[in-house]
Amino acid sequence: MKYFADHMLGRLVVWMRMIGCDVAYDPSLKDNELIEQADREERIILTRDTHLIKRKKVRENCFFIRGDSYKDQLFQVIKQFSIEPYRGFLTRCLRCNLPLARIEKQALKERVFPYVYFTQETFYTCPGCQRIYWPATHKARMIQQLEEILSGGEK
Ligand SMILES: [Zn+2]
Repeated sequence: MKYFADHMLGRLVVWMRMIGCDVAYDPSLKDNELIEQADREERIILTRDTHLIKRKKVRENCFFIRGDSYKDQLFQVIKQFSIEPYRGFLTRCLRCNLPLARIEKQALKERVFPYVYFTQETFYTCPGCQRIYWPATHKARMIQQLEEILSGGEK
């Protein structure tokens, strides 16, 4: 399942990528361009834009996001598409949407802080932006937030 989020959903996009979803996002696109690209790449359009969903081509291939808070939005999406939130947890670049690749620790000595280098064993990198990811303390905080979102819902 692949998605294309409209410009109003930036925060939701980051969270969806965090749980491994393939979500395209480009706030610079005009509505028509977004619709065409989503169609070409067979992506479901996620939108909060009531004008957008009035278009026929969109109506058949979109999901309307309710709620202003990204927490409500994420809960809604997880339920709707039966997403397993931990299956792909932290496997995708939050910025580029590309799957992360494992990288050898030795290659990173000059690229991360010594503390990180000496306390972490597993590193991943994004083939697009070259950003380096590692399981760190913030992961626990993300999981805690995710758990709150998963149990929150139905407000
Ligand atoms: Zn990236």
